Amino acid sequence: MNYAKIKKTDVANGKGIRVSLFVSGCTRGCKGCFNREAWDFACGKPWDEVAERELMEALAPAYIRGLSVLGGEPFEPQNAGTVAEIIEHVRARFPQKDIWCYTGGVYESELCVREKTEPAVARILDNIDVLVDGPYIEELRNLRLEFRGSENQRILDLRKLRGNDKIFQ
Ligand code: SF4
Repeated sequence: MNYAKIKKTDVANGKGIRVSLFVSGCTRGCKGCFNREAWDFACGKPWDEVAERELMEALAPAYIRGLSVLGGEPFEPQNAGTVAEIIEHVRARFPQKDIWCYTGGVYESELCVREKTEPAVARILDNIDVLVDGPYIEELRNLRLEFRGSENQRILDLRKLRGNDKIFQ
């Protein structure tokens, strides 16, 4: 998996001051996409140990509330395995911080179906706190929305939805 950047203080993509990881590659093709350069799976640099160390160091300060993973598309089949691993490592190292993940897919109709046959999708869904879901729909664009671009997109509390309170301390 390639990634475009690690943004070390971000207040636009989730609650509080966060670290945001922008992964590369997306095949959804939403009209009016805000980040077209991230459609290319070869954009940015390969994810490696150096990048993981940089991410962990960025997450360490007490003022950082958590990690947001966006793209591109974290749930693309060729990204999901690496994203699942990153999220599990962050969850283990910083159990007190929250993890948000963005997707152009819809939770019930796409991700809940895919997780039955794609273990990486299930691992991501089982280890994040919040999923911001749904494609960007230009006709539903609303600049007043927090943390998302169009009115169809939802901020889902996956801890409640999936009954996964046990993973949070
Ligand atoms: S899912 Fe996100 S990155 Fe992909 S095309 Fe839609 S808005 Fe752009």
